[in-house]
Amino acid sequence: MKPPAVVRRPRHCVCERPFLVIWEATRACPLACLHCRAEAQTARHPDELDGDGARRVMDQVAAFGRPGPLFVITGGDPFQRADLTDLIAYGTSLGLRVAVSPSGTPTLTRAALAAVREAGAVALSLSLDGSTAERHDAFRGVPGVFDRTLDGWRAARELGLKVQVNTTVTRHGLEDLADVAALVRREGAMLWSGFLLVPTGRGEQLEPLTADEIEDVLHFLHDCGSVMAVKTTEGHHFRRVALQRAVLDAHGQRPRLGPLYGRLTARAAELGLFDGERRAVRRPPMDVSSGRGFVFVSHTGEVHPSGFLPVSGGNVKDRPLTEIYRESELFTRLRNPSLLGGKCGACEFRSVCGGSRSRAYGSTRDVLAADPYCAYEPGSFPYQEEIRALAESTKR
Ligand code: SF4
Repeated sequence: MKPPAVVRRPRHCVCERPFLVIWEATRACPLACLHCRAEAQTARHPDELDGDGARRVMDQVAAFGRPGPLFVITGGDPFQRADLTDLIAYGTSLGLRVAVSPSGTPTLTRAALAAVREAGAVALSLSLDGSTAERHDAFRGVPGVFDRTLDGWRAARELGLKVQVNTTVTRHGLEDLADVAALVRREGAMLWSGFLLVPTGRGEQLEPLTADEIEDVLHFLHDCGSVMAVKTTEGHHFRRVALQRAVLDAHGQRPRLGPLYGRLTARAAELGLFDGERRAVRRPPMDVSSGRGFVFVSHTGEVHPSGFLPVSGGNVKDRPLTEIYRESELFTRLRNPSLLGGKCGACEFRSVCGGSRSRAYGSTRDVLAADPYCAYEPGSFPYQEEIRALAESTKR
């Protein structure tokens, strides 16, 4: 019998069709989050795609063919758009699976969630950056967001929406990460995503973690994957960690990690995070990254490889999304690991990891440069043959 995959790959070729399309419905949002990529404003932008423009984007997403990509409507706060449910219903009528990513504002009510569900949305993603109201609201810049997020989370689950919880990993919340994990496990979520901050938008003002701290976080998140479904956003080296840990496990060995990992696992043990029933099967991370399975359409129709990578491959008003994704120079270059520079270019994990192109760009203005927040030294892992075989077995 074939062993379970350590890393998953989409069934179709990601050069033809993305796995995930994110559409920024608006930049309007009443919150003032410390890390906001969109530097969200309280008012909607005059050049934002209107209802017809949004429907054209969804037509173009459907044109990728079936099974279609997951279509995530984000913001800003998408609940600021009066036509949100009409747009969800339209996307659903085209056969798209639609998910919504609201902010924890007063618009996040049970009635609004019921309308979103009724219109056909299948999933909701919510941000949770602290395990208490004090911690989360300080990060989000407005009081009351934590309570509204928890109320919305519970209501969404009762209404049958799948819930993904996104946690920004910053110095601000680093020591609280095990408590957040315990909260997510207790409340229940389809997926918990650790977002490794990219220095863009207001996030440029925050002090980044070191590469060694990120390594500790990635291994801690990997441990959490034994009791709940975990992924990372802009943390592609999580796939490298998954492969390394599978090989080390087979040899009965543990990785050598830093003091942060020790503190996080000690706190997790205090909280009983790893006690009780374990997941029968770990959910392997999906091998997609900026422009390679993933595409972001901005509020004005610009097509970016990621919401954290402010370089455009074209605008949906001038050229179809399918064409920009499949043929633009920016996207085709990003799908070619042999073009990667620096450490990522020399790394044996480049095809299955490749590093965060957004973080590379944020630090160097070169989309193909090395991810500066990776602690791995290419070639240093002792079981190279086994890694090669495992990486090979994850191919479609
Ligand atoms: S050096 Fe680059 S490709 Fe290699 S593991 Fe680190 S981020 Fe990934």
